[in-house]
Amino acid sequence: MSANDNRAAAAVMLGVLGGGQLGRMFVHAAQAHGFRVVVLEPDVHSPAAAAADAHLASPYDDADALAELRSLCFAVTTEFENVPAQALGELSATGLVVSPPAAAVQVCQHRAREKQCFVAAGVPCAPHALISCASDLDQPGLAALLPGILKTATLGYDGKGQATVSTLVELAAAWAAMGQVECVLEQKLPLAFEISVVVARGRDGAVVHLPVQQNLHRQGVLAVTLVPAPDVPAATADLAVACATSLAQALDYVGVLCVEFFVLADGRLVANEMAPRPHNSGHYSLDACDQSQFDLQLRTLVGWPLSAPHQHSPAVMLNLMGDLWFSAGDASPRSPDWPAVLALPGVHLHLYGKAEARRGRKMGHLTVTGASLARARDTAARAAAALGIAAF
Ligand code: ADP
Ligand code: MG
Repeated sequence: MSANDNRAAAAVMLGVLGGGQLGRMFVHAAQAHGFRVVVLEPDVHSPAAAAADAHLASPYDDADALAELRSLCFAVTTEFENVPAQALGELSATGLVVSPPAAAVQVCQHRAREKQCFVAAGVPCAPHALISCASDLDQPGLAALLPGILKTATLGYDGKGQATVSTLVELAAAWAAMGQVECVLEQKLPLAFEISVVVARGRDGAVVHLPVQQNLHRQGVLAVTLVPAPDVPAATADLAVACATSLAQALDYVGVLCVEFFVLADGRLVANEMAPRPHNSGHYSLDACDQSQFDLQLRTLVGWPLSAPHQHSPAVMLNLMGDLWFSAGDASPRSPDWPAVLALPGVHLHLYGKAEARRGRKMGHLTVTGASLARARDTAARAAAALGIAAF
């Protein structure tokens, strides 16, 4: 399909591997443009499948399900980083349009490969070493990385699969506690703050980006995103966009890619990790930009042209974690006070339709837009207070 293709979008089915909230918001964007969407997700109650036109409730690598996806779909994307890259590769080998490319997903799934990609693309990243067997604990130079953060090479997210270590003895103990799986030890850097940027690259190599986002994490999980990023000098923002663009080019990427960075106390920019999909820190784009990150995902998937997204409203995004459903010491959940929040100006509530609230689970997010970032921040602070979210 191309920009000149006159086929009705309504006839066209798109596929998504993964059933989480990112898939759900992609489904919404695709349906708003007249597409139908089928979700492949083993969980029978998933946010994306609940919104989709069809659901294949099978494992991501199930041969029959992949064959069905192939017969149903014009193109397939993913919303979940740990979907087997091989499944994407197999779909693509049959001639189906698959974005992001399997090879790029494979790089992003492995912290060591990801770091190699940063280095090869000339993008600065934290000093690090690979720990894949016991003898790697004796490699020269490890002490210089301490205090450091030991991270499992695969399957880590939201700060899971990480341990801070200050000595070589602690490092050995932490690696043992992680089951001696392949890990990366990273030097713990003096962060001033964290930022991220979402870029989209089309099949023709054109790249567009959303504005640079400033992120506040709590316990390793994104809590607050501010856009425009209040503390980021223009040169740093430009560098972040340039780095993300270089990475998308180096990966021959087609789709939406989010790169997370640290800004160090001395102002240096260091790439942390990348996600081969829309990202939690880009959710504000739904309400604050003329194209959301999910619109960009759709355009790259179906081969539509990319035009530069424009942010029309300053925005603050607050993640709504399952903890908000529980008052202190209370075991059974209750609904947060949405009326109190929705009475405030510029509030956009997004709930992902998850059946059960659990502490630490992402249940939704709130974007507060305003005439200025200061206004949006002020309203977001009032919303946070009404919901019991810590001040930021
Ligand atoms: P995840 O995949 O769980 O998001 P990250 O590597 O992004 O893992 O780490 C989660 C958070 O931990 C980061 O957002 C940052 O706040 C902190 N962090 C990670 N690596 C470092 C580091 N090398 N130095 C300082 N802080 C770090
Ligand atoms: Mg991260």
